[in-house]
Amino acid sequence: MAKVAVFTETQGDNVKSVTLEILGKLAGQEVDVISIGEVSASGLAELAKYGAGNVHVLKGDGLDQYSPEGYANALKDFIGNGGYDYVFAGSTSIGKDLLPRLSSMFGAGMASEVTNFTMDGGSFAGTRPLFAGKCLAKVEVTGPKPHFVTVRPNALGLPESPTAGAGSKNDVSASAGQIRAAIKEIIKGASEKLDLTEANIIVSGGRAMKNAENFKILEEMADVIGATVGASRAAVDSGFAPHAMQVGQTGKTVAPSLYIACGISGAIQHLAGMRTSKVIVAINTDPDAPIFTKADYGIVGDLFQIVPIMTEEFKKLLG
Ligand SMILES: Cc1cc2nc3c(=O)[nH]c(=O)nc-3n(C[C@H](O)[C@H](O)[C@H](O)COP(=O)(O)OP(=O)(O)OC[C@H]3O[C@@H](n4cnc5c(N)ncnc54)[C@H](O)[C@@H]3O)c2cc1C
Repeated sequence: MAKVAVFTETQGDNVKSVTLEILGKLAGQEVDVISIGEVSASGLAELAKYGAGNVHVLKGDGLDQYSPEGYANALKDFIGNGGYDYVFAGSTSIGKDLLPRLSSMFGAGMASEVTNFTMDGGSFAGTRPLFAGKCLAKVEVTGPKPHFVTVRPNALGLPESPTAGAGSKNDVSASAGQIRAAIKEIIKGASEKLDLTEANIIVSGGRAMKNAENFKILEEMADVIGATVGASRAAVDSGFAPHAMQVGQTGKTVAPSLYIACGISGAIQHLAGMRTSKVIVAINTDPDAPIFTKADYGIVGDLFQIVPIMTEEFKKLLG
């Protein structure tokens, strides 16, 4: 059995679901959760339900908002004293920033953005996509512990019958130490929706959207089904959507349960970012568009007619 720490992030009263996915997969190990900043009662209950033993809540000077140095300094001290074999986090914007920094502070190895893993005999063995998802590599980490692992959100899924843990909360006094690059202000995007990498449903638009204004029809459908809106690079390069919305090799890699591609041809660089989606729906006027070779459901037709019809049908279905 390995001793494992899982770094969690919170979102309102909830913990990010990638934490729960990781916890589910770590059943049978000794698992602590580490949070920087308060975890709500409902968040604690979720963590306990999915197997967290202790939930260590680090608080202190300089930790009110995320800074790579401050968080890494606080975590380094705590993890260093904890005797952990492994430290896991979601491959979120913060996880991707923080864990490589920590692994370098410990001089320890790291497996990035795994999409699956086992813990046989308490030893980590993972799988991660390489070369834009064209092949899967098996990864193990050697050398001094703790070993660090980030896990792609939505890749593992939640266990149907999780093994519960105690979920005992432990407040820990911590310090950000010296922060040389201070964050002065965080300007939030207009959308309060989940980040693409964590979204369970994504509706994406391509060059066929023609302009930024037309993305409204995708937003409307997304509002009804609880989706986040994404875009192809052609749409981003044409100024229809910001780069934060780009899915693909030079954008974000996503793995939602449902990906609806609207007017996207399915170039290899776009597929690289979304091919691990569980169900892919494509709407395209061209029956020979490459996206149809990857789609589970294909609709040949004009997205400007089909998307509003789908939105109305979803409204009826979902009340
Ligand atoms: C190094 C490199 C990195 C790249 N990284 C990325 C990346 O990260 N993400 C990415 O997306 N691309 C990336 N690209 C670009 C990629 O090769 C494609 O050019 C891009 O994905 C095409 O975007 P698109 O499908 O929206 O546009 P198009 O290829 O122009 O396709 C538009 C589609 O819309 C359909 N259509 C037209 N009108 C309608 C309508 N009214 N209703 C329904 N369908 C309609 C057309 O039939 C067509 O299939 C990269 C390219 C390179 C070289």
